Amino acid sequence: MNHPQSLPALESKLPRVGTTIFTVMSALAVEHGAVNLGQGFPDFDCDPRLVDAVTGAMRSGCNQYPPMAGVVALREAIAAKIEACTGSRYDPNTEITVTAGATQAIFTAVMALVRPGDEVIVIEPVYDSYVPAIELAGGTAVAVAMDAHFRVPWDAVRAAVTPRTRAIMINSPHNPSGTILREADLRELEAIVAAHELFVISDEVYEHMVFDGETHESVSRHPLLAARAFVVSSFGKTFHVTGWKVGYCAAPAALTAEFRKVHQFNVFTVNTPMQHGLASYLSDPAPWLGLPAFYQLKRDLFRTGLAGSRFRLLPAEGTYFQLADYGAISDRSEFEFAKWLTAEVGVAAIPLSAFYQRPVENRIVRFCFAKTDDTLQRALERLATL
Ligand code: PMP
Ligand code: GLN
Repeated sequence: MNHPQSLPALESKLPRVGTTIFTVMSALAVEHGAVNLGQGFPDFDCDPRLVDAVTGAMRSGCNQYPPMAGVVALREAIAAKIEACTGSRYDPNTEITVTAGATQAIFTAVMALVRPGDEVIVIEPVYDSYVPAIELAGGTAVAVAMDAHFRVPWDAVRAAVTPRTRAIMINSPHNPSGTILREADLRELEAIVAAHELFVISDEVYEHMVFDGETHESVSRHPLLAARAFVVSSFGKTFHVTGWKVGYCAAPAALTAEFRKVHQFNVFTVNTPMQHGLASYLSDPAPWLGLPAFYQLKRDLFRTGLAGSRFRLLPAEGTYFQLADYGAISDRSEFEFAKWLTAEVGVAAIPLSAFYQRPVENRIVRFCFAKTDDTLQRALERLATL
C-alpha cells in the first residue's frame, strides 16, 4: 500500500494492549514444531452429529439473518438446559441472547453497564478480554488479587468497593488457575453486591468442566445474584468447537433489554445454521453430562505423567487448564521460561504473568490438557525429563 506523507494522529484507545499471549504462543509453537499446550482449544474434533445438524440446517436453507436475539429454538433449548442444570428458569424471549462466543457476550454486557468514571472489580489473574472491554467503555478496572491458593479473598473485594463501583466480574471455573467458586463464595459475593447495589458479570464458559464430584456453582442458582447478573457461557468449550464462536448471555429481562440494545449494533445477529444445529444437538444432554468425566481423565493422565518431574502441580478443580510451578527447574521469568519450553523442550505453555495487569512473577505456567491422549503423551515424554 502507498502510504500518504502524513496521517492524522491516532491515539490508541488501548495503549497497553499488544497481540494476545495466546496468539503469540501458538505462533511460537508452530515455528518450533512444539506440542501446543498453550492456547486453550481442543485438538480433537467435535461430535459428527453436531456437524451433520449444522450441515442439514444449511442445506435446508437456514442461511439468512436469524432473529436479533437468536434463533428461537436455540434460546428455548438454552433456557431448558439452564433450568435442568441450575433450577432457574429464564424466559427465552426476554432473558436469553445468543452471542458470537463468550467474548462478545462479555464485551456487550460491559458496554451496556459501564459508563466513563465507573469502576469494575476484576479478580487477578484475570482473563485477557475483561480489562480492555472495561477501558473501551470508559471505565477503570480495579484488580483484586487471588490469594496464594488462587481463592478469591472476599475481604479484599469488599475493601475495593467504592461509590464508583458498578460491577464485579467473576469467572468460575477459573481460567487460568483451575480453581472453582463454592457456595460459600457465592454467599460472600451476594452480601457484597446487595450491600452496594452492584451488578455481576459471571463468566461460566467452563461450567461443565468441574472435577472430583464437585458441582458448578452457577450464579443462576442463587436468585439474589441472578437478579442482577449477566451469566455468560460458550458452546465453544462445551461442544469442542472453539472456532464456531457461539455462546450466550442469560440475564433478567431489564438487563437483557439493555444488553440487546448494544448487541444489535455490535453484531446484530449470530450465524444462523450453527444456531439451528446447536438447537437440535442440545436436545440430548449426554454430551455435556459426560464432560466432567471426559476431562477429568485427561487431567489425571497429565498430572500422573508429570508426577516424577520437578514441576509442582497446583490443584486443578475445573477448566481444562493445569498450573505448574517450575521453580525447581528454572529461575527464568515466566515468559522466558514459556519461550524456552516451546523452543528447547518442544512444548508450548502460557506464562501466568500474562493474566496480570502489573508485573507479577510466580514461576508458574499454564498447560492446556484439552488434547488427545496421544498429544498429551508426546508432551509428557518431553516434560517428564525436566
Ligand atoms: N472467558 C474465558 C474464561 C475463556 O477462557 C474464554 C476462551 N477461551 C472466553 C471467555 C471466550 O470464549 P469464546 O471463545 O466463546 O469467545
Ligand atoms: N480462552 C483461550 C485461552 O485461555 C484462548 C482464546 C483466545 O485465544 N483468545 O487459552
